[in-house]
Amino acid sequence: MKKVVCYPHPALVHPTKALTSIDKKIHLHVGEMIETMYDAKGLGLAANQVALPFQILVMNITGDPNQKDQEHVFINPVIVEKKGVQEGDEGCLSFPDLFQKVRRAKTVKVQAYNLQGEPVEVMANDLAARCWQHELDHLNGIVFISKMGPLARLAARGAVKDFERKFREAQKRGEIPPDTEIEKVLKALEGEVNEPGAKNGAY
Ligand code: ZN
Repeated sequence: MKKVVCYPHPALVHPTKALTSIDKKIHLHVGEMIETMYDAKGLGLAANQVALPFQILVMNITGDPNQKDQEHVFINPVIVEKKGVQEGDEGCLSFPDLFQKVRRAKTVKVQAYNLQGEPVEVMANDLAARCWQHELDHLNGIVFISKMGPLARLAARGAVKDFERKFREAQKRGEIPPDTEIEKVLKALEGEVNEPGAKNGAY
């Protein structure tokens, strides 16, 4: 199982990379993400919430591990259509116990790939649409506090400051590596460590 990282962990603002192939490693990551999502009692989980910089998300809007038919894995997802408006309370596993009103589209159409690499298209409404928009934001390095209206943001300010303080304290105690170290690990995971260097050397 993986650990869900909390704000302001750098992985949460690190835009994820699209996958070009789905190998054994990805299957292992996905298995762990599903396990982690259920354990944390979430309805969805984006890969960068467990510090994996890839465009993978897992979802089960029932939150019930026994409802396997509601369990989905989406690779390289994109929202291709949004309609209507809904306003409601939203929470995030990376901001434990913080719930605030967030305005979202009521309906979304999403295109992605499943774990078999086949293209899929999904229409989602209401809660499912909210979950999609929240998770897609994650993959783009956007956290839900930046989607709150001014009142909700003001109400959340104390909690957000607490998250920041706790995170920095854990870093000082050495329980969480410094941001620069985390960034290095994310880059290494992306497999980009050698490529840019090699290019620089050539010029
Ligand atoms: Zn979230």
